[in-house]
Amino acid sequence: MSTLRFHSLKESLKREPLPVDETDKRSSLFASNVFNIERMRHTLTKDAFKSVLAAVEKGSKIDRGIADQIAAAMKDWALAKGATHYTHWFQPLTGATAEKHDAFFERTAEGRAIEKFGGGQLVQQEPDASSFPSGGIRNTFEARGYTAWDPSSPAFIFGTTLCIPTVFVAYTGEALDNKTPLLKALQAVDQAAVAVARYFDKNVKKVNASLGWEQEYFLIDLSLAMSRPDIVLAGRTLLGHSPAKGQQLDDHYFGSIPRRALSFMRDLENECMLLGIPIKTRHNEVAPNQFEVAPIYDEANLAVDHNSLIMDVMDKIGERHYFKVLLHEKPFAGVNGSGKHNNWSLSTNTGINLLSPGKTPMSNLQFLTFFVNTIKAVHDYEELLRASIASASNDHRLGANEAPPAIISVFIGEQLTKVLEELETVTKGKLSPKEKTELKLNVVGKIPEILLDNTDRNRTSPFAFTGNKFEFRAVGSSANCANPMTVLNSIVAKQLISFKTEVDKLIKSKDMKKDDAIFNVIRELIKQSKPILFEGNGYSDTWKKESRRRGLSNNQTTPEALKARIAKKTIDLFEELDVMNRIEIKARYEIEIEEYTLRLQIESRVLGDIARNHVIPTAVRYQNILIENVSGLKTIFGSEYTLQAAEQIELIKDISAGISAINSGVTNMINARKKANKIEAIDKKAKAYCDSVKPFFEEIRYHCDKLELLIDDEIWPLTKYRELLFTR
Ligand code: ADP
Ligand code: MG
Repeated sequence: MSTLRFHSLKESLKREPLPVDETDKRSSLFASNVFNIERMRHTLTKDAFKSVLAAVEKGSKIDRGIADQIAAAMKDWALAKGATHYTHWFQPLTGATAEKHDAFFERTAEGRAIEKFGGGQLVQQEPDASSFPSGGIRNTFEARGYTAWDPSSPAFIFGTTLCIPTVFVAYTGEALDNKTPLLKALQAVDQAAVAVARYFDKNVKKVNASLGWEQEYFLIDLSLAMSRPDIVLAGRTLLGHSPAKGQQLDDHYFGSIPRRALSFMRDLENECMLLGIPIKTRHNEVAPNQFEVAPIYDEANLAVDHNSLIMDVMDKIGERHYFKVLLHEKPFAGVNGSGKHNNWSLSTNTGINLLSPGKTPMSNLQFLTFFVNTIKAVHDYEELLRASIASASNDHRLGANEAPPAIISVFIGEQLTKVLEELETVTKGKLSPKEKTELKLNVVGKIPEILLDNTDRNRTSPFAFTGNKFEFRAVGSSANCANPMTVLNSIVAKQLISFKTEVDKLIKSKDMKKDDAIFNVIRELIKQSKPILFEGNGYSDTWKKESRRRGLSNNQTTPEALKARIAKKTIDLFEELDVMNRIEIKARYEIEIEEYTLRLQIESRVLGDIARNHVIPTAVRYQNILIENVSGLKTIFGSEYTLQAAEQIELIKDISAGISAINSGVTNMINARKKANKIEAIDKKAKAYCDSVKPFFEEIRYHCDKLELLIDDEIWPLTKYRELLFTR
C-alpha cells in the first residue's frame, strides 16, 4: 500500500465522533446570530424600523440618514456578540459565495482607535470585482462593481464576522450576481400572482414564492479524501473500481446514521439554528456515506441565501469533524449521485398557499388556476428550465437511472389528471348554471379529498406536484438555487400575466362572468399543455421516443442545453419582465459555457496526471514483480517453466495491454484538448470538449479500473472506493 494511502487509512480509523454541546434547546438558539426583523424592532428607532419594513415588503429605498442609524444598531449588536469584522456577503456568478472582510476597527485622525461602521459601509461597498466572472459585461463597459445591502435577507454573524447579504451590480447597472435577477423575478411573480389572486380575494396584496430545498451530500473522511488528487482538484473521483458491495442491499438508506456523521450533523444543525436556517430533516440517503439535510421552507430569496450559506457552513463544519463534504452531483461512478430538490409554491399575505386546494369550490378554482398556469409555464419554457440546471457535474446525473431524465415533464398524479380531463370538456363560452354547479360540486369541489390519497409519487419525474407544491427535482446538489428559481418564477409570472389578459378579455368582450371566463381560459391552457404532462417511467426508452414525438427537448449535455439561455424567446421573456436585459443574459450564458469548458479541462488534466503518474508506474512495478517471478520459475524449472508461469505470463500481457491503452488514451486526449483549446468561439470550444475530450474519460478510466483489479492491493496507490465509501 502506498505510504499516503496507508497513513490516510490509519488516520481515518482512529477518529472518534467529536462531542457536540446540545444543552441549549433548539428553539432558544434559533436565529440568535441573525439581525432579523424582531431584533430590528427592538433596537431601531420607529422611523428606521418602518423604513426597513417598507424596504422588505415593497422594495423601497432606505435613505442615508436612516442607513446610518441601522448600521449603528447593527454594529452594536454585532460587537456585543463578539464580532470583530464585517463583510458584504454576495453570490457572484461563479456559483459560490464571496466575502471580503473588513475590521470594524479604525483609527481617528488623532490616532485613537474606534469601532467604526456607518450607513455608507452598510449600504454600499466596492469589492475588488475585477476577478469575478462577468462574461464580457466588464469588458464591454469596463464596469466596476459595487455591492449593496439586500434588506429582505437579514445580516448574520458567522464565526466572528458580521455578514451582510448584498446584491452585486456593475456601475453601469448590470447585475453581476445571482441574487439581483432572482429578486426581480420574485417581484414579477408577486405582481402577476397578486393580480390573479385578486379574482378570488380582494385582500391579497402580496404573493411570496416559497422554496424548500433538500440538500444531498457525501461525507468522506478528510484524510481519505485528501489522498485522492481527483477529489481534491475536481470534487469527484475520476477513476476507481466499484466496491464488491455497493448500495444494492439498501442498508444505508434505512440504516441508522453513523456516529461520526451524526456528530457532524448535530454540529451543523446547531450552527444552522444560530444562523436562522430552520433545519428540520436529516437522514441517510441511498448511497453509502450519502446524507440529506433539509429545512422548513421559506420565502424564496431567503431560502436561496440559506442554501448558499449552508453549503459554506457544511464545508467548514465538515473540516472540524475531519470530513470532506462532497456536494458534487456524481462523486462516485456506479453509486447514486446527489441532487437538490427545489420544492416551490406561492403564498399570499393572507396566509393562503395558492398551490394548495382549499375548503370551498371557489378556493379550489383558485388552486386550479395557479396549478394549471404553472403547468402551462413549464410547457412553454421546458427547454429554459432544463438550461437553468445545466452544468458539467449535473450532466453525469440527469438521465442516469437515479435522477430525472434531461427531458422536462410534469407529473401530477392520476387523480388530478382526471380533474384536468373533465375541465377540458367544459363548454366553450358561457356555462349553463347546471354545468357550473356540477363542476363546482363534483369536480372542483372534490379536490381536497382526492389529494388526501394522492400518494403515488413518481420519483422519475423532474417536476412533480406533491400535494401542495411543485417539486423541481432536476436541480444539482452543487447548484445555486437562484438560477432555477429565477427561471421558474419568471415563467410563471409571464404565464399569469397572459392568463389575466385572456380572462379580462372574455369578461369584457364576451360579457362573461368571472368564473365562466376562468373556466374557459383554463380549458384552453389544459389543451395546450398536454404534451408536458407525463405520468409514466421517465427512464424508459419509450418515453424518449414519445417525448420527441411530443416536441419536447432532450438536451443531454450542457453545451446543448445552454443554447436555450440565449434563445430569442428567453431574451424576450426576461426583458419583458425586467428581470434581465440581453447583456446580462448573454453574460450569464458566456460564464456558464466557459465554466463548463474549464471544469472539463481541469478533469482532463487531473485524469491524465493520475493515469500517467500513479497508475502506469504502479502497473510497471507490479509487472516487474511478475517478470522476476517468471524468470525465477525459469531458473528452477528450465524449459518447462511455461507450465508454472502460464498465469503470470497472461497477467504480464494484460498489464502491458492496459498500460498501452491508458497511454495512448491520454495522448489522444491531450491532442483533442490542444485542438479544442485553439477554438476561439466559446460555444464551439465547449462542444469540442464535450464531444471529443470527454469521451476519453470513460476510455482511460475503464483501463485504469481494470488494472486496479489486477494489481496487488499492497502497492495500489489510490485510496479505493470501498475505503472512501465504507469508512465511518
Ligand atoms: P420529501 O420530498 O423528502 O418527501 P416533503 O415532501 O415532506 O419531503 O418536503 C420536502 C420539502 O418541501 C421540505 O423542505 C419542506 O419544507 C418543503 N415544503 C413543504 N411545503 C412547501 C411549500 N408549500 N412550499 C415550498 N416548500 C414546501
Ligand atoms: Mg423531495
